[in-house]
Amino acid sequence: MGWAAAAVIAVIVASRMTAAETVDVVPLERLARQAGLRVLAGRHLSMATDRPVRPGDGIDDLPAVFDAAFAAWCRHYGMNPADHAGWRCFGCLVVDRERFRTAGLLPDAIPRFENGFCANNRFWLVDQSNPAYRRHLLLHEGVHAFTLTLRHLATPVWYNEGIAELLATHRLEPRSDGTAKFVPTPIPDRPADVAQLGRIEKLRELRGDGQAPALDEVLGLAVGEHGSIGDYAASWAAVAMLSGHPAYARPFAMLERGPLGSDFNRRLAALPGWDAARAGRDFDAFTADVDYGWDFDRMAIDWKAGPLLAGPHEMAVDASRGWQNGGVSLAAGRRYAFKACGRVSLGSVSDTASDEATAIESEADGVSLEWYRCRPAGRLLVGQWLAVPADGGRPRFVVIAEGACGEFAAIADGPLQVRLNRTPERLAECEGTLDFSIRPLR
Ligand SMILES: [Zn+2]
Repeated sequence: MGWAAAAVIAVIVASRMTAAETVDVVPLERLARQAGLRVLAGRHLSMATDRPVRPGDGIDDLPAVFDAAFAAWCRHYGMNPADHAGWRCFGCLVVDRERFRTAGLLPDAIPRFENGFCANNRFWLVDQSNPAYRRHLLLHEGVHAFTLTLRHLATPVWYNEGIAELLATHRLEPRSDGTAKFVPTPIPDRPADVAQLGRIEKLRELRGDGQAPALDEVLGLAVGEHGSIGDYAASWAAVAMLSGHPAYARPFAMLERGPLGSDFNRRLAALPGWDAARAGRDFDAFTADVDYGWDFDRMAIDWKAGPLLAGPHEMAVDASRGWQNGGVSLAAGRRYAFKACGRVSLGSVSDTASDEATAIESEADGVSLEWYRCRPAGRLLVGQWLAVPADGGRPRFVVIAEGACGEFAAIADGPLQVRLNRTPERLAECEGTLDFSIRPLR
């Protein structure tokens, strides 16, 4: 997105200035009004724009959205919003840069930016045609202003940009009185909530092309190397995983509440229980299957390698979870037979015409009423983690058998993993278990 330059400057600014050096917004508001720009002000954001008035375009609501987001950012960092009631920033929503330059609101010292740029408690963003994406960019720059001034952020670029992406991602929920409620969605539930954002699609595309980065590559990105949409997507994914995955969320939240300095990566690696190899694997598992409504608790993977499967083995497969470790390991090339029986509930489907909900029950073959990733919902999947895919791509889970019964050859030495096919967003609605049995063949 061409924010590489913005990131460079933002980090330099952060290291030289303190909260005391943030600018007073009142003189800037005066300059804007004198130049005939519209000024919209809330508690924390004062915004000048040359965008023509168009009723219903949502521009008038932006300061209120910003204030709701500010409270959510405070909560993220364990801060009391009331302690920062006087914090204000000045944003310019720009259609024609020249008007802001002439008004004295776009100093020559600000480098040319493509979408947005932040310097302490001032930021600029180029107006967007899509309201959801405009709000996202506004909040992205707002998070920079927040973290630079209130948290003195000077972290490596992955955290700087990843946290801006994470804390900017949201949806607006209509209320009955016609206003909208700001709902933070670190992982968006559906594409319609984040029109034009495309982080999840970008990660899938990178995965498909074998270009997705490993976690240590994301953490190691230098400021000058960070700039593509893929970099923003990967940085978002890293911060989303560290703040959402049950193995990392608590220690990472403590880390974030401490100093956000240039030694952030070193302090991350020093967290109690930090295992870089495991974190890298969890990150690969996330980016390999990333989807809307990702549920880190239900998708968390147990990587433990159990004893080699030598005889018949049984397990219960929980419909409401992602990959589940069978407690035993398979040997590469060895053949196995499996069988699964029972019935689970997969939630319900709504008839689009009558709006009536029908409960979906499924056996191990799945139901063709709904499909996910080219397979019927609820279908039993047997998988293994492929650490070194032959196509040279990042490590990932590979489905090696599916359905109610069958035989297969293991593709790697490692744990047996089993799950039912379901979109991660709907795992919470699923209930029940299937009885799964497996035995090695001679
Ligand atoms: Zn940014």
